[in-house]
Amino acid sequence: IEQLADVKTAVSEAVTNAIVHGYPQGGGSVRLKAVLYEDDTLLVDICDTGIGIEDVERARTPFFTTAESDERSGMGFTVMESFMDSVSVKSKPGQGTTVRLTKRLQAPEAYPSARRA
Ligand code: ATP
Ligand code: MG
Repeated sequence: IEQLADVKTAVSEAVTNAIVHGYPQGGGSVRLKAVLYEDDTLLVDICDTGIGIEDVERARTPFFTTAESDERSGMGFTVMESFMDSVSVKSKPGQGTTVRLTKRLQAPEAYPSARRA
């Protein structure tokens, strides 16, 4: 449940970003792809074809936001980083953004064989 909550929070931040920042005029698509590998690594791609990010490194800096007027805190990427093992961002201005999240899932300690059953 805890890991599920972590993944949900991270994916939600990325999808929210695609909607509010990728498509400021509204309208557009957000695509998700999820893969669970044999070693229990989960990969989730969140893709939009919106306005893109000019400076990804700056965008990932804690408290950086381009939407201060909407009372955004600029903590979305930081939240994704803290809940997932890795966060990679590929973006081109005018073409869109893909955020790739990965996390190696752990079998619950109380039920070590539960995931193998
Ligand atoms: P918060 O997530 O705390 O509400 P925020 O969305 O501004 O605030 P981040 O999620 O860290 O903070 O994103 C930082 C900045 O990166 C955004 O303000 C925006 O400029 C840019 N950004 C993030 N995702 C996208 C995207 N999919 N398309 C275009 N710009 C993006
Ligand atoms: Mg955000």
